[in-house]
Amino acid sequence: MNLPNKTLSHLRCMECGNTHDLNEPVYVCGKCGGLLDVVHDLETLRPYISKEIFDSRLGSLDAPYNSGVWRFKELVFPGIADEAIITRHEGNTGLYTAPKKLAAWTGASRMMLKHEGENPTGSFKDRGMTGGITHAMLVKASSVLCASTGNTSASMASYAALAGVQALVFFPYGNIAMGKLAQSIAYGAINVQVKGDFDASLSLVRQACPEFGIYLLNSVNPFRLEGQKTIVFEMLQQRRWKVPDWIVLPGGNLGNSSAFGKGLYELYQLGLIEKMPRIAIIQAAGAAPFYQSYQENFAERHAVKANTIATAIKIGNPASFIKAKRTLSYTNGVVEAVTDQEIVDAKAMVDSSGIGCEPASAASVAGVRKLIQQGVIQPDEDIVAVLTGHVLKDADTVINYHAETLESLNSPYANKLRVIDPTLEAVESLIRGEKMPTR
Ligand SMILES: *Cc1c(COP(=O)(O)O)cnc(C)c1O
Ligand SMILES: [Zn+2]
Repeated sequence: MNLPNKTLSHLRCMECGNTHDLNEPVYVCGKCGGLLDVVHDLETLRPYISKEIFDSRLGSLDAPYNSGVWRFKELVFPGIADEAIITRHEGNTGLYTAPKKLAAWTGASRMMLKHEGENPTGSFKDRGMTGGITHAMLVKASSVLCASTGNTSASMASYAALAGVQALVFFPYGNIAMGKLAQSIAYGAINVQVKGDFDASLSLVRQACPEFGIYLLNSVNPFRLEGQKTIVFEMLQQRRWKVPDWIVLPGGNLGNSSAFGKGLYELYQLGLIEKMPRIAIIQAAGAAPFYQSYQENFAERHAVKANTIATAIKIGNPASFIKAKRTLSYTNGVVEAVTDQEIVDAKAMVDSSGIGCEPASAASVAGVRKLIQQGVIQPDEDIVAVLTGHVLKDADTVINYHAETLESLNSPYANKLRVIDPTLEAVESLIRGEKMPTR
């Protein structure tokens, strides 16, 4: 069924309501600098959107409908021609039932894990990047720029190479996880360390893009958030559209938190879901400005100097602050903060369950545990925690945790590397010592 030949989406400023055409290369309001939303004409689109249509594409072998983003095209970028889409068949990530031991550790009786680390470059950023790069090509960009703690750059470098445009990345100085940096170098981006933290890099990107005519691919770009909405769409589809009580996710720059709220609200308006789940946004205690503001009922917008082992959420002044606040109001949401110790312990539990994730992702699981302990989440509620990145992204943290060499952190769940002589006696005493089951 072909969509009607009319304008199906436009950009609208959250602050002043000013609108822009989708063909303009803008990411913030031309009038006031506020954040833009991609607004879809849901009334016109309504007959073209249903669970059945989305489900019918699940067996698709061909691009773009074999992508876990573009399967939901009518709610992502309805007006784009299929041939114009830059895709790596992203999405289609696993939804696991948490193994008993892991669930018990959090106190939950029913927890599922949506593993966004199973995307092509190992994080959910690919879902946003396919939307962002597709729009970049639509407006004929020749180069793209982002500030990144590592995953955005890995994703952008990959999709830019695929589309044939030059990628430029600004990293914060120091503290980049090796797996992420390696990807960005491998995919051919121009990689630069900017003397300052992530927030300084992002601020520089926002000045440099309009100045030099480079396309901006940080999550202030609203087309990224349209792609990231599909994390919840796909998760609901995998649950046969049964809405959970809670969706729990880590919050750094708060792009994902913003995307989840917008996507759920659209599904609700269209009648594809009959109730809204509650969203819990989990920040690292050393990078928790949104949590601080939440605790004060948003009397003030905080910014901090960020410090946490979870580098993907080491962000002191979240760009999508206001949109994430909107998510809280749409979903009766909550915000919590977890310490680095809680993060690395939760990560050790997720990892040893066989599923594995990077540190920032484990904030979700640490958050579930904390919110159950506090009585905010009930143990018998239906919970989905989002794992945002792959275990191999930050191998250093894994090795150091298990070697008990993480600075000022303990390793209660350490799995030590052993060394033996190459003799059968040594193997025998190892097996005895470990009480390892044998025949
Ligand atoms: C980007 C990222 C986050 C944080 O997402 P925001 O949208 O910035 O809040 C969390 N975890 C991982 C692995 C990420 O790559
Ligand atoms: Zn405006």
